[in-house]
Amino acid sequence: MSPARTVSAVCSHDCPDSCAVLVTIDESGKATRVQGDPEHPVTRGFLCAKVNKYLDRVYSPSRVLYPLRRRPGAAKGKQAYGRETEAFEPIGWDEALNEIAERLGSVAREHGPESILPYSYAGNMGVLGYGSMDRRFFHRLGASRLDRTICATAGADALISVYGKKLGTDPEHFRHARYIIAWAANIHGNNVHLWPFVQEARRNGARLVVIDPYRTRTAQAADWHIPIQPGTDTALALGLMHVIIEEGLYDRDYVAQYTHGFEALKEHVLAYTPAHVAGLTGIPAADIERLAREYASSPPAVIRLNYGIQRSQNGGAAARAVCMLPALIGAWKDLGGGLQLSTGGAFVFNSSALERPDLMLASPLQRPARIVNMSRLGHALTELESPAVKALFVYNSNPAAIAPNQNAVVQGLMRSDLFTVVHEQFFTDTTDYADIVLPATTFLEHKDFQGAYGHYFLQLSQQAIAPLGEARSNVWLFGQLAQRMGFTEPCFRDSVDDLIEQALAGRGEDGVTLQELEAKKRIRVASLPFANGVFATPSGKVEFCSSALAAQGLEALPTFHPPDESRRGADAHTFPLEFLPRKADNFMNSTFANLPGHQKMESPGLAMMHADDAGARHIRDADWVEIYNARGKIRLRARIDGSVPAGVVAASLNWSKLSTGGNNVNVLTSERLTDLGRGATFYSTLVEVRKLTPDEAQNLFPPID
Ligand code: SF4
Repeated sequence: MSPARTVSAVCSHDCPDSCAVLVTIDESGKATRVQGDPEHPVTRGFLCAKVNKYLDRVYSPSRVLYPLRRRPGAAKGKQAYGRETEAFEPIGWDEALNEIAERLGSVAREHGPESILPYSYAGNMGVLGYGSMDRRFFHRLGASRLDRTICATAGADALISVYGKKLGTDPEHFRHARYIIAWAANIHGNNVHLWPFVQEARRNGARLVVIDPYRTRTAQAADWHIPIQPGTDTALALGLMHVIIEEGLYDRDYVAQYTHGFEALKEHVLAYTPAHVAGLTGIPAADIERLAREYASSPPAVIRLNYGIQRSQNGGAAARAVCMLPALIGAWKDLGGGLQLSTGGAFVFNSSALERPDLMLASPLQRPARIVNMSRLGHALTELESPAVKALFVYNSNPAAIAPNQNAVVQGLMRSDLFTVVHEQFFTDTTDYADIVLPATTFLEHKDFQGAYGHYFLQLSQQAIAPLGEARSNVWLFGQLAQRMGFTEPCFRDSVDDLIEQALAGRGEDGVTLQELEAKKRIRVASLPFANGVFATPSGKVEFCSSALAAQGLEALPTFHPPDESRRGADAHTFPLEFLPRKADNFMNSTFANLPGHQKMESPGLAMMHADDAGARHIRDADWVEIYNARGKIRLRARIDGSVPAGVVAASLNWSKLSTGGNNVNVLTSERLTDLGRGATFYSTLVEVRKLTPDEAQNLFPPID
């Protein structure tokens, strides 16, 4: 028995805040409390409602704690929640690793190693958990590489095209702002540690404006909510620039000294008059003018842009246009001014040491492997050839719930000739299709280190408790598998500390070391982005007009094009409503959706409709409805509460197996990709809604309050 103690960890869920967490451990080694670390300058001692109850998750009786194999004769397919073990039998790690190594080996020999597809994302944001030993393993195997596009690539490419780096205003500086625009950013819902800085600014007189088609918690708390039609953000940003330039409200000195392409931009935005933009966005022309004037004349002005706008067919253009606004008004000169989409570019590690892409040359391929886009998993599993995918290895993700075009994904996962391994903490929508399920650790059960995309602190996350049952980390799993596959490279025997040191060795002049992180817990790696006026773009300036994009056949200046699936698209006569498959405030994508406490906070299963759209379909509040399009359908209860504008219907992401009818919002979304970054286009989705007949509505679940 060791004495009771407190251990410093970092929340590794996919959230900009990367909270510092203190874990209290009792004499028996059990975690008895998690709380925010009050010494962290941004996350300041509190956790969100999702993670406050984290011990319910860690010690949940539903955890997967032992390796499992599908029982002979147990068919793949949806399994009632809580009864998944009926389809599996426990096996030891030895047996599991041997079987996986043998199956992957034979798939590689028979179909080529590229027929093996890893599938992972940010279910684990620790640097090592997200991508280290796993990448080494799949590179050495010669497996297909995964293009990790599901969340943020259009916005990242957009930000980089304008500023050269993925940096933004320090959250601590928001307190100095006088004008704050939350553009598609539900700060109060899913970036909660920025909220106190926003409130501090407001107490000092700042105004908070929210631009969002959905009346989020943040919109409800704002001084001004501007409900915009989905997919029209490019038009609004260009319209704001039109007013700012026409009325001479831009910062001439800043534009002259630090930007490139202003004259072309000036010409380009001429067409985006407030009247024209009003017709595109649904925002009155007077509001567009007022917003432009207030924004340009209330320094310091800051925009918290979030990733919603870039999950649209032309989301790259939208994010580029919004990102240009602070440069136009010279907002970067002011403490508290600028824009934050991501701070992730401050955390640069030695990725070639960590991921060892050179190992692909030692694989049977002896060349770089092909790349498969994770946003087109349905296509990859049902149509991809030369070679077809024959083995899928899922970790840090739940693709049967989160990937678009869910019916195609499930059709692929159902294939009897597909060997599927899932490394998970719980039985999920995806484990229903697994041949082997492996138990994964939570962030309390392994050591890692982590950057953030909402602040500038690099942090060490210590292992707080021993892994529960036989749960194992990603690093352990892929190191062991490599050895079973006979990979003799010493890098597969690297320890967690070896990996951290190798990753940090790439940070160049800031010279952060593991010893320093161990001693200090966290280190600030940046604070004032672009303060020196140097931009890592081809011109060395903020790029309004990008010749690099033009050279790739893309538009040099962001231009508004309505998404194919929008009220202006060809299919709008059949499916006239724009669908917002929202992230739930109280889940983290699909994580936490299975925990009863989180379900209770969220009330999923509702279709938010405007009164006009509901009335036209004879739908009343709480009626059962079906939302459908050519790809699929879901059944929900209508909620008519003013949260969406006319022409828009919204519902939140839930697990399919916990949803009425066994489907979630992704049966409706498509595999179409964004204009930049090959990203997913969840928010360019057309649907129709109909009221269910009493017969159809009989015996549906769940009820709502
Ligand atoms: S989910 Fe985000 S806000 Fe919640 S504890 Fe984790 S990092 Fe903090």
